Amino acid sequence: NRQVVLKEYIDGIPKESDMEMKSEKVALLKAPKGSGAFLVKNLYLSCDPYMRGRMRNFHASYIPPFVPGQPIEGFGVAKVVDSDNPDFKPGDYISGLTGWEDYTLIYNNNTSLSQLRKIQPDDCIPLSYHVGLLGMPGFTAYVGFYEICSPKKGEYVFVSAASGAVGQLVGQLAKLHGCYVVGSAGSSQKVDLLKNQLGFDDAFNYKEEADLDAALKRYFPKGIDIYFDNVGGDMLDAALLNMRVHGRIAVCGMVSLHSFSDPKGIHNLHSLIPKRIKMQGFLQSDYLNKFPEFLEHISESYKQQKIVCIEDMNEGLETAPAAFVGLFSGRNIGKQVICVARE
Ligand code: NDP
Repeated sequence: NRQVVLKEYIDGIPKESDMEMKSEKVALLKAPKGSGAFLVKNLYLSCDPYMRGRMRNFHASYIPPFVPGQPIEGFGVAKVVDSDNPDFKPGDYISGLTGWEDYTLIYNNNTSLSQLRKIQPDDCIPLSYHVGLLGMPGFTAYVGFYEICSPKKGEYVFVSAASGAVGQLVGQLAKLHGCYVVGSAGSSQKVDLLKNQLGFDDAFNYKEEADLDAALKRYFPKGIDIYFDNVGGDMLDAALLNMRVHGRIAVCGMVSLHSFSDPKGIHNLHSLIPKRIKMQGFLQSDYLNKFPEFLEHISESYKQQKIVCIEDMNEGLETAPAAFVGLFSGRNIGKQVICVARE
């Protein structure tokens, strides 16, 4: 059983050398009798920016840090190969928290955290979408947009890290809702994708803008009603200056911060008051009661070709560390997934 493990806790941006491949000899690929566990073969693993937080020796209230030397835990799609749990039978496909390894023994004892669910294979929907469009990132876009942004038809929406797993769906939902949507991303290829495949009204490469405030004034001469913030830092600061009265900012993530003790300050919070802006952080896991409605709505929209999904698929477990690290330099184009095995 090959595994990708975290060597030791880190600070700052993850590097490939913070992780290593190990091989564990397993006598029998079986779920122990009486354990209630089931053994899965991992097919697709997800690289998500939040995982960086679990590489620090810090106990956030909602999720514990990784254990150095143990396989990295992350969302994945897997196939049950042996089971001591009557709810999960060999041959079932599941999506939820699994390990960065070939096989994982899953003890289904914390369902809300693991977001474990069975998947019904569907000829029209690739299995890997269950860690992206139809998994945690897609759900983040869905609840972030509908629950936090309170969107109205005709509003001006700005999305950062717009071609990524979360951003690409936020933009498409905003368009379907009748909003005007502009995205920012870190390369001309991504800008092209936003405009020509994801249906954004406009897009720009923030790395080519010396003055982000001026850029936002150019793209939103009338101001921004909704800012869906995936990056924090300078972009958030510039967006604050460009919000309209009664604007909403959904604080989804801060991937631009180099470390969580980043001194980069936000200077423009004063805009919140005269403009009566609502700025709210959120965690997708607080809204899991909405997951079934999300799954149905987004699967249908995908099948009806109302939305598309851009995936960046790496082949092989050994590529996982580089793919994960790439999230913090923008190497990924779309949702970053690792294919460990196809069946
Ligand atoms: P992405 O697929 O968008 O990948 C990360 C992207 O972030 C990169 O491709 C890169 O795109 C961009 N990026 C990296 N470094 C920087 C930087 N210094 N400045 C600006 N942009 C940068 O990731 P996800 O869509 O999975 O996640 C997006 C955000 O949503 C993250 O902040 C994540 O933590 C957050 N999140 C929050 C959840 C919640 O419940 N609140 C749940 C899930 C995700 P580019 O080339 O465009 O710069």
